[in-house]
Amino acid sequence: MAAVQLSGIFKRYGDTQVVHGIDLNIDDGEFVVLVGPSGCGKSTLMRMVAGLEEISGGDLMIGGTRANSLAPQQRNISMVFQSYALYPHLSVYENIAFGPRIRKESSSSFKPRIEAAAKMLNLGSYLDRLPRALSGGQRQRVAMGRAVVREPSLFLFDEPLSNLDAKLRVQMRTEIKALHQRLKNTVIYVTHDQIEAMTMADRIVVMNAGRIEQIGRPLDLYDRPANLFVASFLGSPSMNFAEGVLTNHSAGGLALKLADGTEVALPIAPASAKVGAKATLGVRPEHVETLTTADGVSMEVEVVEPTGAETHLYGKIGGATWCVTTRQRSNVQPGQRVSLRLPDHHIHLFDTESGRRLD
Ligand code: ADP
Repeated sequence: MAAVQLSGIFKRYGDTQVVHGIDLNIDDGEFVVLVGPSGCGKSTLMRMVAGLEEISGGDLMIGGTRANSLAPQQRNISMVFQSYALYPHLSVYENIAFGPRIRKESSSSFKPRIEAAAKMLNLGSYLDRLPRALSGGQRQRVAMGRAVVREPSLFLFDEPLSNLDAKLRVQMRTEIKALHQRLKNTVIYVTHDQIEAMTMADRIVVMNAGRIEQIGRPLDLYDRPANLFVASFLGSPSMNFAEGVLTNHSAGGLALKLADGTEVALPIAPASAKVGAKATLGVRPEHVETLTTADGVSMEVEVVEPTGAETHLYGKIGGATWCVTTRQRSNVQPGQRVSLRLPDHHIHLFDTESGRRLD
């Protein structure tokens, strides 16, 4: 088991800096997910923790020891990659036993660990098979088995589910989470998939362009994103936004005046926002309510998307495309107008220029 601390970690390739001073403390036993768009530096950061990439600056502590210049094998880490990297000519058992054999452990010492890992990962009846006779999910489980028998203090997962089809991804995500609940080891998990981050993490680290945008528990980030980037990155369909200028509302308090003249009353205390400033309002699709009366914000429905469990209505508000999600089956047709209510406690407000949350 190991806590991990990153202080002012940066990475430069030649003259180009790609990771800019990362500070992150990971508790012993915590499952932390690094999430962000492709190219934001997640893999580079993880590879620096693994020792596969040199750290250009800052301090990396693993289990209380400075690890910047430790060789990968001295860090007591196991890593699972997107490509399973199994040896095609070796059986499942031998693939899992590969590490212990290289380390010259006796087979009587590692055999029970392999059997326990195989049982835990439902691979017990496949130990004699070659990788080509396994499904994608089973192969990924073998890769995890190999990581588990090392009994590492820290597990690193780099997009381990990206090669699997959608259904298997959902299943494996549950399995990895269950594995963590059993082993209670420290996990750093890299993904670009915000649903994986939301469902698996104890804490999510949202990255963008080599920096951390926000760190927090999944639902805390979902409910109170610190800025426009996090607000738009987490959630599917993503949060709806409307840009406008803050004005005094005729009924008192503040309103946001959109480009098309629509005024939306705001719940925010005037002290935290200035009349005349540009602001962006955000509301999640599932929080927008459709009204039977016409006194809400009007939207012409352009597309109706039934998913079975819910229906998505798409249209434009203030020039931006909005999505409204309803749990009810909807009779609304494209071309019809709907009247929308944006409940006060579900309105997020951001400074348009800086992107920062305003309350
Ligand atoms: P992510 O994992 O979030 O997709 P990466 O960590 O792979 O992002 O990459 C972060 C940035 O670093 C990208 O802009 C990428 O082009 C750059 N990068 C990664 N590896 C190298 C390298 N060996 N040399 C130069 N630039 C690199």
